[in-house]
Amino acid sequence: MASDYGHRKNASTRRAAQTRLIHEGYDPAAHSGSVKAPIYHSSTFLFESAEQGAAFFRINNKQALPGDPEAAGLMYSRFSTPNVDLLEKRLAILDGGEAALTFGSGMAAIATTLMAFAGAGDVILHTAPLYGGTDAFLNRLLPRQKVQIEAVAAEADEPAFLDAARSAMAKGPVRILYTETPTNPNNEIVDLALCRKIANHIGEVQGFTPIVICDNTLLGPVGQQPLAFGVDLVIYSLTKYAGGHSDLLAGAVVGPKSLTDQIYSVRSLLGGVIDPHTAWLLTRSLETVTLRMKAACDGAERVADFLNYHPKVSRLNYPGLLDADSRRGGLHREQSSLNGSTFSFDVGDGRDAAFRFLDGLKLIKLAVSLGGTESLILHPVSTSHSNVDPARRKALGYSEAMVRLSVGLEDPQDLIDDLEQALANV
Ligand code: PLP
Repeated sequence: MASDYGHRKNASTRRAAQTRLIHEGYDPAAHSGSVKAPIYHSSTFLFESAEQGAAFFRINNKQALPGDPEAAGLMYSRFSTPNVDLLEKRLAILDGGEAALTFGSGMAAIATTLMAFAGAGDVILHTAPLYGGTDAFLNRLLPRQKVQIEAVAAEADEPAFLDAARSAMAKGPVRILYTETPTNPNNEIVDLALCRKIANHIGEVQGFTPIVICDNTLLGPVGQQPLAFGVDLVIYSLTKYAGGHSDLLAGAVVGPKSLTDQIYSVRSLLGGVIDPHTAWLLTRSLETVTLRMKAACDGAERVADFLNYHPKVSRLNYPGLLDADSRRGGLHREQSSLNGSTFSFDVGDGRDAAFRFLDGLKLIKLAVSLGGTESLILHPVSTSHSNVDPARRKALGYSEAMVRLSVGLEDPQDLIDDLEQALANV
């Protein structure tokens, strides 16, 4: 989609990512000198001629004729808008991806991407645990469309992963290997290079290779770049760290254009796009995402240190405390440059103690979601992960005593003081 932001004038892949996130794809001179990109609140765009409209639609329908332009221009806001176009150009930068597509929520990104590559009879092999909504989409909704699912434990080593691959192939053609790392809420670490290896193995056996997709919401493109480990597509809930202010819903997928083009066709039909204002807010958020994520991770390290020594806290799932000699710790250090600011821990001995603690907090907000400027906390079993089957929840290690904290940008000492007084209630 070609927009009229004049981006060709100042595009430069030689500049540092942080500089590109602020300048790339927009030329103020083309917009009355407006330093920030204007918001295009229009659902439709003018064609210069009937033939131009026909050509744009031919291109969009993948039926271009010789002599048609290289890319379609703006047509209709369900396909793209200048604000979405600019955001997508900048979103791909931190991941080192060729292209990005945005969606109305993280779940819209996940659902649209999975539906682009898997249909009736196909199999999706996924690591578990996954975010509760993804788990429900895979295990409850997709089977109704006759898509088959096979799960493998996030911490699976090569023999266990190969066993799962064999079971998946026995069910039918495996089109997708889907993973999420670190996992929400307990920060299991999935070996991304192993996912690539298993997908290639499946490809050799069945004659075509499944697409490897990784949800990178928890560490974001600042803390982890899954494409560098052989993942094909990276998924985000931009609602979290990328948006970063708990004031919008959005999602994205980043990867090679050959794959995002296929997802674009499905997005155009399903319609899960974001509006121009949300795209504008996200473009602004991307300018500070690196600063925000690093500051939140620094704060989280201090909070985790405090919790680690508290007698009423157990099973602290903070990646920064993983033993570097353990498989999990080694993988985390290899794959990630940040420890993240979202982690879970158990309080006391069950739900009552966890609820007393949560109700006693005065500063940290009791709400779902993560990655905002304010610290948020929740009880996963009764909220974000309540739609995961109870037996599977237990097997996945989600306890009734578990709470998940997303550390924001407050002074960490104020957060520690709040946690300390609330733990005294338990
Ligand atoms: N992926 C992860 C890891 C999440 O935590 C979430 C939401 O919490 C999602 C995807 C879904 O994102 P959204 O709420 O933007 O649809």
